[in-house]
Amino acid sequence: MNVEPQKQAGRESRFQGLAVSPGIAIGPVHVHRAGAVTVVQRAIAAEDLDAEKQRFLDALERARLQLEKIRAKASRLHGVAGEELSFLLEAHCQMLSSRRLSDGVLQRISGARINAEAAVESEVGSISASFAEMDDPYLKARGRDIEDVGQRVLRALSRVSLRGFEGLASGSIVVAEEITPADAALMDPRQIAGFACTLGGIEGHTAIMARSLGLPAVLGVAGFLEACRPGNTIVVDGSSGCVVVNPSPETLGSYQDIQAALAEETAVLARLRDLPAVTRDSHRILLQANLDLPRDAGEAIVAGAEGVGLLRTEFMFMNREDLPSEDEQAEVLSDVVRAMAGRPITMRTLDVGGEKLVSGLDVDQAAGANPALGLRAIRLSLKQPELLEAQFAAMLRAGALGPVRILLPMICSIGEVRAARACLEQVAERLSQEGVAIADPLPPLGVMIEVPGAALAADSLARESDFFAIGTNDLIMYTLAIDRGEERVAHLYDPLHAAVLRLIHFAVEAALRHDKPVSVCGEMAGDPRYTALFVGLGVRELSMHAKALPRVKDQIRRMNSAAAANLVMESVIRSDSRDVARLLDVFNAMAGNS
Ligand code: PEP
Ligand code: MG
Repeated sequence: MNVEPQKQAGRESRFQGLAVSPGIAIGPVHVHRAGAVTVVQRAIAAEDLDAEKQRFLDALERARLQLEKIRAKASRLHGVAGEELSFLLEAHCQMLSSRRLSDGVLQRISGARINAEAAVESEVGSISASFAEMDDPYLKARGRDIEDVGQRVLRALSRVSLRGFEGLASGSIVVAEEITPADAALMDPRQIAGFACTLGGIEGHTAIMARSLGLPAVLGVAGFLEACRPGNTIVVDGSSGCVVVNPSPETLGSYQDIQAALAEETAVLARLRDLPAVTRDSHRILLQANLDLPRDAGEAIVAGAEGVGLLRTEFMFMNREDLPSEDEQAEVLSDVVRAMAGRPITMRTLDVGGEKLVSGLDVDQAAGANPALGLRAIRLSLKQPELLEAQFAAMLRAGALGPVRILLPMICSIGEVRAARACLEQVAERLSQEGVAIADPLPPLGVMIEVPGAALAADSLARESDFFAIGTNDLIMYTLAIDRGEERVAHLYDPLHAAVLRLIHFAVEAALRHDKPVSVCGEMAGDPRYTALFVGLGVRELSMHAKALPRVKDQIRRMNSAAAANLVMESVIRSDSRDVARLLDVFNAMAGNS
């Protein structure tokens, strides 16, 4: 992007965060706040007034819970930035709980007989106007806060998630307190050049989305938001984790040079697209793409993906209030099958919970002290069979059009696999009786190995299931007890930790012993530093975000799998992950490692 230095405003400031998605983005700042909700006033009949008031009180409670959650996260940030953010959010919490707001809105609903949205808007307008009249500049500025609070309530009322990315100047860089995976799913890389935010960890789904969209991103950047004004130029260096607000002409020039060099490297790697991923000693590795959004199938093919190793269906359920019907799901999945034109596709059933929340479900996915250990993924699907049945039916229908496998997330025990298989068979039976075309024979049913217990029980799971997909993201999180989306412990998230490597080793061996296909589809699979480990272990399928494919393929074509196997023998006996990292660096740096 061409940025004219004379338009820079203010002094250059630099901030350090977590480098989660590589590349350099340079562009104008777009400060992402809650997307303003458009309010339309409606008359409410006298007999419906109580229900309307209750609707407001429920929304107020949802907004309060949401704010508490953000506040809890912010309180864990270090330094002045963390303190300031906590202070601000504390003020928002107080405003939200104030009787002035709730009584005022309730009175407006019954007095003017209007809908809750219109009542909130006018009450917030009047509170904000009274702040504006104050002499004290600090109090005057609080008018802005009450407006933010009002927007939060309005969004909770209309159950609208943030949709603030439409109409942005092309090449904008989104900066925010927090960007959820659902927000990231709304970003269009043709319009947005990258993003940076205060919260977020290295392997959370927001980071994964950024990589799969190819957007340079830095998360966990404390204190930078205060320096950002709409339209300022900002550099987001997703490779080093540096964020520069108002870069000087020299800084800008050096980042533009790096950008050009990266573009050149990408063009060189693109030439590998049609070459097979084969090691120097002739071992063929199947390289597939992870798809978060069905619309990305085209990009996967362009990047040379030989199939889809992980289709995360949960994104079909996000940014909407209702659940997609079986027909709608079948349609979307069939489109992916058609787009992949005969290439295999592994479709995973709903994996909600943790940071991937879906509004249309009846259960509270964030409930409990430890939602990551709660009712999520396959547990939720088995608890709500109608959800699983609709997903299976849609997958079976799409499977009539091309090769499909079905994958179950967060499996811990064989009972879950058996229950899911029984459900799949029942759904297939029903569809066949109805004369609906479905996959024949039934698609292989596989399990994610992403919980330590599943890795340790890999032998029995290999007998019950048709294939394994190793999810290193959750496997690392649960093995090391590190929240993958939490910036404060991101430095402890260690893919080369001895416990992680041993669990992966154990699971791969079990699969190979039982002659079951095993792939790796966590983020480690897309990092060329680790490719030799997987090849050396005997993994022959890797699935990653499409942008990572060329680099991993390049690595495979330069490596000898027998040498990689020796590397694994050396690695799994090390107890210090830094030793393993050094072994890998040496291996990767050697041109002829045979
Ligand atoms: C994983 O946990 O490694 C995985 C691939 O699943 P997700 O990232 O969707 O949790
Ligand atoms: Mg997972």
